[in-house]
Amino acid sequence: MKNISIWNNYLTDKSNNQEIANNINTDILIIGAGITGLTTAYFLKDTNYKITVIDKDKIGNGTTAKTTAKISYIEQDIYQKLTRMHGSRIAKKYYESKKDAITLLNKIINDNNIECDKQLVQSILFTNDKKNINKLITEKNILSSYKENPKKYQDNHIKYGFSVSNTYTFNPIKYLMSLKNIVKSKTTIYENTIAKSIKKDNNNYIVLTNNGLINTKKIVLACHYPFFIIPYFFPLRTYIEREYVSVAKINNPQNKTFINIDKSLYSVRYYKNYLIYGSFDHRLTSKIDYGKNLKKHQSDFIKYFNVKPEYTWINQDIVSNDKLPIIGKIKENIYISTAYNAWGMTSATIGAKIIADLIQNKDNKYITLFNPRRINIPLIINSIIGIFHYLKAYFESLFHKSNPHYVKIKGFLYGVYLDKNGIEHKVKLLCPHMKCSLVFNKEEKTWDCPCHGSRFDLDGNIICSPAVKKI
Ligand SMILES: Cc1cc2nc3c(=O)[nH]c(=O)nc-3n(C[C@H](O)[C@H](O)[C@H](O)COP(=O)(O)OP(=O)(O)OC[C@H]3O[C@@H](n4cnc5c(N)ncnc54)[C@H](O)[C@@H]3O)c2cc1C
Repeated sequence: MKNISIWNNYLTDKSNNQEIANNINTDILIIGAGITGLTTAYFLKDTNYKITVIDKDKIGNGTTAKTTAKISYIEQDIYQKLTRMHGSRIAKKYYESKKDAITLLNKIINDNNIECDKQLVQSILFTNDKKNINKLITEKNILSSYKENPKKYQDNHIKYGFSVSNTYTFNPIKYLMSLKNIVKSKTTIYENTIAKSIKKDNNNYIVLTNNGLINTKKIVLACHYPFFIIPYFFPLRTYIEREYVSVAKINNPQNKTFINIDKSLYSVRYYKNYLIYGSFDHRLTSKIDYGKNLKKHQSDFIKYFNVKPEYTWINQDIVSNDKLPIIGKIKENIYISTAYNAWGMTSATIGAKIIADLIQNKDNKYITLFNPRRINIPLIINSIIGIFHYLKAYFESLFHKSNPHYVKIKGFLYGVYLDKNGIEHKVKLLCPHMKCSLVFNKEEKTWDCPCHGSRFDLDGNIICSPAVKKI
């Protein structure tokens, strides 16, 4: 069993993109080259702006590389949630943004003949829990009111469900690599370049990276979780949701995707003759013994599909406290697109379009819907609840039972892991991002921050940001 995403097999480009030799000047700096960053570069490529994209890793190592990549407008019970929180007008507008995103994605793929194994599929939303039938019916009714035609669905495993059409699956890495190839003639891309801080300099910004300074007029934060706290206080608006994914070869792949609305997530899609299963989603701040969760997910996989996973991995996405993505301007000439609530194939596409339109002073009908500076009652209430979740995780992580042994050096706690060759790996158990205490994930041999999702390897190197310093 490999602890990597199946999409890793499609990382064809092993060459390094150029590294920054000296300090550079640009018009627009896009920080992050996942689906958000590269799609933004795509929409801006034919403008007169000088565009630079940086990524802290080689392209294809972020969230997009570990997604299940369903392109869908059914997102569990999102439309009733949004109706409850914000009213039916906002819920409908969100639905329209999804449909527009699917059209845009299809257009990008078709216009550029991108080979990314895109497949038209039937998407099934279901419940096997009688208590959730009403929820399912409500979602179906809302979709019908949007002039969709959801159809009743049942099979040997699914008691109550409905299916919709015009949804897709694809290979996210093939898509990402193609986007990179399309934009690279008009854009400068620097890999292994991490943005560490942003400073205002007259009308421009100076971004400090590990490879030098970048002087830029505009910044697009496409880095999933922003690496700074002030001025935007992102952790108060969002939380992280973690999910576990496994893949095995099967004999009967279907042209369908499945996702439930029950307490315990069940999400399935197929890729060629592989079945891809996601489950056990939870707030990062709860269930912080991540190694144990991965084991539970794997045993569920074997129970449901009677086969051992060939690939298994962890991924996490950002959920906004009012369930709407965060897309738009956060400050003069600084833009962000993130918090896709685990539905980023569509939301990143529409997000990139909104940012590109904002930069070019063009109108876009979704600017207000996703405005990153919005304040509403669900956001306020859930942000307060979120603070308690952070505090709980913070205290729970101190001396967590999953950690190997500790040593104290100059007043700081270090976690020590002895590998099978007897080599000691010692790291300071303090996340540089917001000083949360780290917990050990014994299945993947990583140190994970239970507050905001930074991850480090055994020697303290960053695997996943927002942290920008090794520990
Ligand atoms: C288990 C799981 C399953 C999912 N399945 C689906 C699905 O079926 N359909 C769907 O639509 N969505 C799905 N999603 C959501 C989707 O994968 C994400 O929303 C999306 O990939 C986010 O893309 P991104 O470009 O914003 O982030 P990323 O892909 O993470 O890109 C951000 C990039 O920024 C770089 N970076 C970070 N910090 C810095 C820095 N300081 N300096 C420079 N670079 C930096 C990172 O290296 C990374 O490459 C799923 C999510 C999860 C967790």
